Amino acid sequence: MLKVEHEERVVISVVTKRAGNWLASARLRPTKQRMALAEALVGDGHHRHVTAESLFERVQRTGDRVSLATVYNTLRAFCDAGLLQEVTVDGSRSYFDTNTHDHPHFYWEDTHELTDAPVDQLKIMQLPEVPEGAEIASVDVIIRLRRKLS
Ligand SMILES: [Zn+2]
Repeated sequence: MLKVEHEERVVISVVTKRAGNWLASARLRPTKQRMALAEALVGDGHHRHVTAESLFERVQRTGDRVSLATVYNTLRAFCDAGLLQEVTVDGSRSYFDTNTHDHPHFYWEDTHELTDAPVDQLKIMQLPEVPEGAEIASVDVIIRLRRKLS
């Protein structure tokens, strides 16, 4: 019994440490709310794609009191600090990705889920010429998927 409690404490401290390091890498002060969201985002060491709503639900389950507006504003602040990249689908649905490197995405139309597509299998041979005085800021590759009817 005591051993399990000890192990739980160790797991929690690793999650907290990851979250703290993540905020520190962008020189963000580890406020209580930022830490709660950072732990939910990167605490397990895996990349994830969240919406403000899905992160809000996730954090509520851990018992932390953070409003949806705070989640939204904090996600924006994390984006501005370069910790997250925003991926917009359908012009209005915003996903926030903990993987900030360029990579393509699969968008699952039936579940509205965004997942990573294998970057090594993507080849962009040529892009259209941009209008004079313009330069390409970024190229988003979102491959929309639907389940096959069997
Ligand atoms: Zn991604």
